[in-house]
Amino acid sequence: MDNKRPIVKGIDVDINTRCAHYHTEKDIIAIKFHCCKEYYACYYCHKASADHNATRWPKKEWDEPAILCGNCSHELSISTYLDVNNCPSCNHEFNEGCSNHYHLYFEYDRKSL
Ligand SMILES: [Zn+2]
Ligand SMILES: [Zn+2]
Ligand SMILES: [Zn+2]
Repeated sequence: MDNKRPIVKGIDVDINTRCAHYHTEKDIIAIKFHCCKEYYACYYCHKASADHNATRWPKKEWDEPAILCGNCSHELSISTYLDVNNCPSCNHEFNEGCSNHYHLYFEYDRKSL
């Protein structure tokens, strides 16, 4: 176990950071929110547990480590995360369906990519 691993908040968060909302084999990442700099398992977990509205990461801060691999506890920057389909450290697959939700977390313009 990696005891430096950040705390991941949310509803029914398991050891691999799956939560009540997303719990398939691939739903293993947690996201640090720009507003509170705390890790949550997903957007809905933040909505249910935090006492404030989520703010999104501006593009100029995308080199911040803000994505946690729930499998190996490796932290990725946002720009790295947007580039890969697997964890660069443990090679575990990430859920490609997450790309539908990027705009909730990052100042992301679908049309610009
Ligand atoms: Zn927050
Ligand atoms: Zn959740
Ligand atoms: Zn990993």
